[in-house]
Amino acid sequence: MKVFDEIESEVQSYARAFPRVFNKAQGEYLYDEEGNRYLDFLAGAGTLNYGHNNPLFKEALIEYIQRDGITHGLDLHTKAKREFLESFYDKILKPRGLDYVVQFTGPTGTNAVEAALKIARKYKGRENIISFTNGFHGCSIGALSATGNAHHRGAAGVSMVGITRMPYDGYLGDNVDTTAYLDKVLSDSSSGVDHPAAVLVETVQGEGGINAASAGWLRNLQTVCRKHDVLLIVDDIQAGCGRTGSYFSFEQAGITPDIVTLSKSLSGYGLPFAVVLMRPDLDQWKPGEHNGTFRGNNLAFVTAKAAIDHYWSDERFAREVLRKGDYIGQRLEQIVEKYGDGNMTTRGRGMFRGLNCVSGKLAGRITREAFRNGLVIETSGADDHVVKTLCPLTISDENLKSALDIVEAAVGKVLKGTEVPEAYDFFSGKNASAERKDQLAGAA
Ligand SMILES: *Cc1c(COP(=O)(O)O)cnc(C)c1O
Repeated sequence: MKVFDEIESEVQSYARAFPRVFNKAQGEYLYDEEGNRYLDFLAGAGTLNYGHNNPLFKEALIEYIQRDGITHGLDLHTKAKREFLESFYDKILKPRGLDYVVQFTGPTGTNAVEAALKIARKYKGRENIISFTNGFHGCSIGALSATGNAHHRGAAGVSMVGITRMPYDGYLGDNVDTTAYLDKVLSDSSSGVDHPAAVLVETVQGEGGINAASAGWLRNLQTVCRKHDVLLIVDDIQAGCGRTGSYFSFEQAGITPDIVTLSKSLSGYGLPFAVVLMRPDLDQWKPGEHNGTFRGNNLAFVTAKAAIDHYWSDERFAREVLRKGDYIGQRLEQIVEKYGDGNMTTRGRGMFRGLNCVSGKLAGRITREAFRNGLVIETSGADDHVVKTLCPLTISDENLKSALDIVEAAVGKVLKGTEVPEAYDFFSGKNASAERKDQLAGAA
């Protein structure tokens, strides 16, 4: 770890929780330098929905590089970009009846959020944006103003203006529809809330602790936006690209946002790539008004197209995600029933789920114990109190079970000591199922 301690900035975060040097990855597996294998339930914080080095995309990428395809192209028209746009239109937008133009921004989620906020403000000629408690939208100043987390906001060093925070679904308890409050303040010229250009929302708050808004709340939110002539922006950077069981996370609610941001799993391969989708009439940009050197990551276009063609040409993949998501949900429920201390609950939908441990300390002990047993898994939420099960959507049933067994054993061990089954030792296969033992024997 020497060089990392000596010359890498203190800003490191995930690296502290998983103090190994990783060297190889395939599908849902990560390997460290010593060759130890881990199941990956962090998955690039939702960037590796299709697993590490997905062989289907890898082949397309290698072929593209071998033939000297364009790697960097600013925003020049390229064949790779055309083919991405065609697939995105034919297989994602058109079947869903979505009429959006695609803006290529700088390749991080944050930059897509910045662009979305800018175009909304420009179009409406209003500064204020509504965002929500526990929302996370990135760490550059514009996106950070919309982010709730005090730890991230504290690093800004300047005042962050132009945002009014509203309570997210469930923030005031299960029986309070917080969109009624939003409607009230937008209806009242003396509420002190300036008429906003847009509302910026995640349908499931990833970094905020896997808070899933209900479909009804999202529909009410859209109604309030329309009533008050306010744009609805869905930040689908983490919840999108299949995580909740549909390509966009808002499909189940039946809403149509005016603007959508996508990044994280968009390229499918962990290559940086972000877009803003917007209603065509909102596209009031002047040429080059929001630019960025890396808007044309053509390698990402190649893998993004491969991902769409392979996984989104029919309904099969989405159904698989829902099936596995139900399994994760059931297992987490069982864990809560079996070991829960009365406070622990489950959260989320699709394969975007978590275990709310209430205490960040408890959640941290659980993820550390899980890591010891071969599972890379992180926490999220204001106090890092939610254990986040964010595995690749392509994970095998067997590995999904193994990983949740590790989570269960870790929860048991942390909450009840000796009563629990001994942790499943991933490396030696100690306490492994008969099938797993066979598999390990086969691999050796
Ligand atoms: C990760 C994330 C972002 C920021 O994306 P970066 O690529 O880290 O800049 C924005 N919004 C949401 C919902 C995210 O999960």
